[in-house]
Parts: sequence; C-alpha cells; structure tokens
Amino acid sequence: MNKKWLLVGFIALLIAGIYAFGLGDYLSLDALKAKSDDFAAYYAANPWQTSLWFFLIYTVSTAVSIPGASILTLAGGAVFGLWWGVVLVSFASTIGASLAFLLSRYVLKETVQTKFSDKLADINAGIEKEGAFYLFTLRLIVVFPFWLINLLMGLTPLKLRTYFWVSQLGMFPATILFVNAGTQLAKIEQLSDIMSPAIAISFALLGVFPLIAKAIPNMVRGYKVLKAHKKPESFDYNLVVIGGGSAGLVSSYIAAAVKAKVLLIEKDKMGGDCLNTGCVPSKSLIKSSRFLAELTRSERYGIKSASAEFDFSEVMQRVESVIQQIEPHDSIERYTDLGVECKQGAAKVLSPWEVELNGKTISTQNIIIATGAKPRVPVIDGLDKVRFYTSDTIWSLREQPKRLLVIGGGPIGCELGQSFSRLGSKVTLVDMAERLMTPEDTDAASLLHKQFCDEGIDIKLGYAIESFGSENNESFAIVKGKSAEAENIPFDAVLFAIGREANVSGIGLETLGVQTTPAGTIEVDKYMRTTVPTIYACGDVAGPYQFTHTAAHYAWYSAVNSLFGSVWRFKADHRVIPRVTFTEPEIASVGHNEQSAKVAGLITETTTFKLDELDRAIVDGKTDGFVKVLTPVGKDRILGVTIVGEHAGEVLPEFVLAMKHGLGLNKILGTIHAYPTWAEANKYTAGVWKKNHQPKKLLELLERYHAAKRN
Ligand SMILES: Cc1cc2nc3c(=O)[nH]c(=O)nc-3n(C[C@H](O)[C@H](O)[C@H](O)COP(=O)(O)OP(=O)(O)OC[C@H]3O[C@@H](n4cnc5c(N)ncnc54)[C@H](O)[C@@H]3O)c2cc1C
Repeated sequence: MNKKWLLVGFIALLIAGIYAFGLGDYLSLDALKAKSDDFAAYYAANPWQTSLWFFLIYTVSTAVSIPGASILTLAGGAVFGLWWGVVLVSFASTIGASLAFLLSRYVLKETVQTKFSDKLADINAGIEKEGAFYLFTLRLIVVFPFWLINLLMGLTPLKLRTYFWVSQLGMFPATILFVNAGTQLAKIEQLSDIMSPAIAISFALLGVFPLIAKAIPNMVRGYKVLKAHKKPESFDYNLVVIGGGSAGLVSSYIAAAVKAKVLLIEKDKMGGDCLNTGCVPSKSLIKSSRFLAELTRSERYGIKSASAEFDFSEVMQRVESVIQQIEPHDSIERYTDLGVECKQGAAKVLSPWEVELNGKTISTQNIIIATGAKPRVPVIDGLDKVRFYTSDTIWSLREQPKRLLVIGGGPIGCELGQSFSRLGSKVTLVDMAERLMTPEDTDAASLLHKQFCDEGIDIKLGYAIESFGSENNESFAIVKGKSAEAENIPFDAVLFAIGREANVSGIGLETLGVQTTPAGTIEVDKYMRTTVPTIYACGDVAGPYQFTHTAAHYAWYSAVNSLFGSVWRFKADHRVIPRVTFTEPEIASVGHNEQSAKVAGLITETTTFKLDELDRAIVDGKTDGFVKVLTPVGKDRILGVTIVGEHAGEVLPEFVLAMKHGLGLNKILGTIHAYPTWAEANKYTAGVWKKNHQPKKLLELLERYHAAKRN
C-alpha cells in the first residue's frame, strides 16, 4: 500500500513541478504557434534527438495523465510533418496510454474491485467478453476524455495486450486528423476548428459500428428466415406451445390468462419430466428411503431398536401412485378449464408461423419450444451387453438390483444413488470429477461424501468407465482412475446420471436455421427469443438452468414477450436462482459459493454458522451441516448462500427473498424468527456476521463509559 502511495506522491510532485517551472504553459495553442518554427528548425538540425525527446515527453505526459495530448499531437504535425508525426504520436500515445492504464491498475484496481466487487461483476464479465469492442467505441467517441478512459480501463480485467492494440487502432483516425491539422498550424484559431461536430459524429459512428456489426448478422439471419416463408394472412392461434412439461404448461397458462388463443401440444404424458420421471418420482423414492434411514438411527431418539419390513416393488408402486395423485394438476382437463386448448401428438415446426400436428398444418403468430431434455447416454464399448437405466426408465424397476452402479455424482446420481443404497442395494458411484456435486460449495460436497461413505456407498471419484461386458450372466464395468489400475465392477443394473441433453432435433428447427449453443441447447436472446424472431424457447431445451422452477420462471418471459413483444419486451432475469439437491444432508444454495465467486473475480467474505449450535438441530438429532453466506468485504449484502443439512431447501427461501429484494444480513438479524425452528439458523448466521463486524472502538468507549459510571 505504501509503495502505491509513494508512486502517487511522486507523480503528483512531477505534475506540480511541470506546472511550477512553467512547462505547462507550452501546452497551449498560442505557445505552440509561437514556438513551432523554432522547434522545426531544431528538428532540421537534430532530427533523431528531437524525435526522441518528443516521443519521451509525449509518452510521459500521457502516462501521468497531464491534459494536453491534443496540443502535443498538433506539435507532432507541425514539427515532423504528416507521416513521421503520425508514427511518433501513434506509438507514443499508445505506450503512454498503456502506462497510465498500468498505473491505474497497480494503484487502484485491487481496492476498487474489493470494495465494489459485486457491483462490478457484470461489468467485469462484459469486459472479459467484449472489452475490445467497448474500448474501440470509447476511443472513437471524442467526448470521452483520453486520460479518463486510460484510468477507468485500468480498473477492469481487460488484458494489457488487448488494451494496447485496440487503443492504437481506435486512436488512429483522430491521430491522423490532429497531426494533419498540425501541418497547417497557422490556419487553426482554436482546437474546436479541428474536430467539427460532423467529424466528431462520423468518428462516433465509426466507433459504434463494430458493436452494431456484431448484432446485425443475427437480426439479418432471423429476418431472412421470415422472408423465405409466406406469412399467413390470418392465424389459427396467437401462440402454439410445443411440450406439456413445466415450461410448456406455465407459458400456455400465462397466454390463456391474458386471453390469447393458445394451443398446447404434448406428444407423451402431460406434466413432462418433472411429474413423470423427474422431481415427483425421485422425491417420492427419497421419502421412502429416508424413512428407512431414520429407523436405523432409532437409538439417537432413545428407541433401542426399530425395524421395517418392506417390498421394493411396493415402494416403487407408491412412487407411481404419487404421480397419479399429482397428475390432475397438469392434466388436459385442468388446462382446458384454464383456457388452454390441448392436443396430443408430436409437433413439428414447418415455418416461423406454422406447426404440423398429426398431418395437419396449424398457423400461429408465435411459437414456444418447450420440448425439454433427455438423459445423456454415453457411447461406451459393450453397453449393448448390459441392462442400463436412466432417470427416464429407472421407475419401471420392480425388482431391486442387488448391486447398482451409478455413473454420475451430480444431483440426480446422488439423490438416486443414496435412495437405492438406503433401500438395500449395494451402490457404487463413479464420477470422472474429483468430487461430488461439482458446482456446489466444496465443504457441502465433503459433508455429503462423508455421509455417503458412512452409509456404505462406494465412491470412485476421478474414474472413467472404459467398457462394459457380460460373462456367465454377470454384468461388469471396467473402470479406471487417473493413477489407478483398471478395475472390474460387477453389477446387476447400471444407472446413467451424467447430464441431460436438450430435445432440439426432429422438430423442424434445423431446417429453419434455429441456432443452438455449444451446450446443445437452443440459443435464445435476453427476451427468450430464438434466432427466428417468431419462435421462443424456455425450460430444459433452452437452459441455462435445468430445474422446474427455472422452466416456469423463463416460461413467463417467453409467453409475455411472444405475445406483447412488439409493444414492450421484458429482459429475462437471471439473478437469484435457488437450487436444492434432496440428498441427506440436503444441499440448498443460491448465488455464489466461494469457488464460483473466485472464478467470477469477486472478492468476498464468508460467514459460517454450524448447525450443531442450533437448538432445533440438537432436538431433532440432525446436527451435521452449516449455513454459509458470502458477502462483499465489510458489507452485509448477500452474494450467495449454501445451506447443508435437514430442511435446507425449506430454510433457503428467506435468503432468496433477501437477495432478490436487496435485503442484507442486518435485516435478517432484525427479523423475529420463531423458536425453536430451523430457520433460526439464518438469523444466527447474520449474528455471526454482525459479531465479526463489531464496532470495536465504540465498544471500548462504552466499556470505559460503564466503568466510569460504576466508579
Ligand atoms: C430425476 C430427476 C429429478 C429432478 N428433480 C428436480 C427437482 O427436485 N427440482 C427441480 O426443480 N427440477 C428437478 N428436475 C429437473 C426438472 O424435471 C426439469 O428441469 C423440468 O421438468 C423441465 O421442464 P421442461 O418443461 O423444460 O421439460 P419437460 O418436463 O421435459 O417437458 C418437455 C415435454 O415436451 C414434450 N415434447 C418433446 N418434443 C415434443 C414434440 N415434438 N411435440 C410435442 N411434445 C413434445 C415431451 O414429451 C415433454 O413432456 C429433475 C429431473 C430429473 C430427471
């Protein structure tokens, strides 16, 4: 810190010295005009020395941000002529600007980024992605002072190399203009003569051109598709929604609620993944398996022993009956009552305004693609020789696999792996990653790992499946760790839980040229619109999150923007997305954890409260877990939360609400929480934060005050 301020002091002294010795007086148009002949004569006699001195003076004055670059540039033209002047000024100004950029970065970046890291996160991300474009634009819009751009850009993560070449390129037109003006110095009365409004506007247009040029191809592509198809004169529907899962149900319901004529098409079961093969069956299975796990812990509750008799097929039957109980919520009857017309069949998009269903063509003003995703199945040698399952098919099991091999240590693999293990299967869980639940907090993953080991799940991290095989009626997988010998794992069933791929093919999108992302999901803009302007997408097929609640969240934007986009469009809000993995311990999180904050370049502070200090956790005998909150250093604003433990998913929403509405930890601390509840953990975490930020000086004064009163 001291070194930085020494440097600032040195620069301040240098600037003060320049002005004290009257050198600043040379940085005016009149002074330049008066002296330019002398300079030119000196240059004629000493060309290299003059060039060198000019170069040094220009570089240093730019580096320390002394105003007067335009005068020096004119001098370049007046003394050295157009071409040599341009070469000298272009390099001196770029090197000087880069030094100013480095100085600002050295002195201020860390402090600014630490203090405002959360607010700067979006700017940082934007600069990392498109910093070169922004800088180029700024360089050409002359109202932005040259020195200010240097100082501000130094505070961002823009690379020096990029800064250098973009600056040189962006400043080049103005350099030529000013150096050329310098060659005719006598004609200039004031600086504004050089940069007329017309030239300034032309430069600005040149500056914004790359940004516009970047956006144009997508627009052109979209409108080309529209032009290539005949637009119907009238439409059967305002909106056709393809897919009756969470995203499709919500978008069609919203359209019907605002009185649009909407058709919802589902090719299979209404309710999609969540109801039929995802959230509902998995959580039902988790409930049964948790009950069994509780029995094994009876001694914890003063009960010597407890046991259960159960039949695996009946547990799976119960899962099915839960689906049946919830089915009416997502049924054709219910949605028809809500004003949504529902049809069964596999839909295909024919044109930006037409959908084919059961051999008929339906016309519509807009289309929403909500076709979801399917489990990924890898191509592995010998897979055809073994019985494998995915989250789509595992629910048909009625005979319990004695040995279940689970491939994938993410939410689905962990939830189902633990459930099957608790139901009595010997589970081996294999993942290529070095830890379970990679996107989550490392401590959360460690606690889960420990629990899995305690429950007897065999975890193989850093392992890849090399092949499958079958011999003497026994299936096996050959797995290999990075630094381990290949191993043979025998199993009765294998479950793939290695991610889900968007359902983008076979629905006519390729022919229309709807673009997809590198992740294989449909590319949508901020308004959930695809590259074809009449087609929107939401839910698992569009991502980036693959949850029921995000499908519903983005469905709102798709429906509203598709119906009212010509009048007003709403940017999809990607902030504050909660997620819960229903393992035991449960992992619930929102926003950043320590690892993701680091990757995003945020400088944060972590406050942790362990559940073994929470009365309710002790009462319930569930003390494993914690609440971890990330805030900017010294501030109570919440940047992210991870809760691990019983009811974590139920305890999280208070933080979700706080983050969404900008309430800090002080507000949570000041809220009454009923005793003894799990939610009290939130208040205690806020209490830990408060304790860590006690006003120490004030407390010392108070201590003295009370002592004085006692005496
Ligand atoms: C095991 C598991 C557990 C999960 N647990 C949770 C959880 O606890 N919480 C959570 O938030 N999320 C959970 N999810 C994720 C959640 O299920 C999905 O994010 C959600 O269902 C996505 O909804 P969607 O509408 O985008 O897609 P889907 O629900 O997959 O719906 C897409 C629908 O489109 C239909 N379709 C496809 N193509 C066509 C066509 N051409 N014509 C007509 N119809 C078509 C399909 O038949 C399907 O019904 C879980 C997922 C799994 C697999």
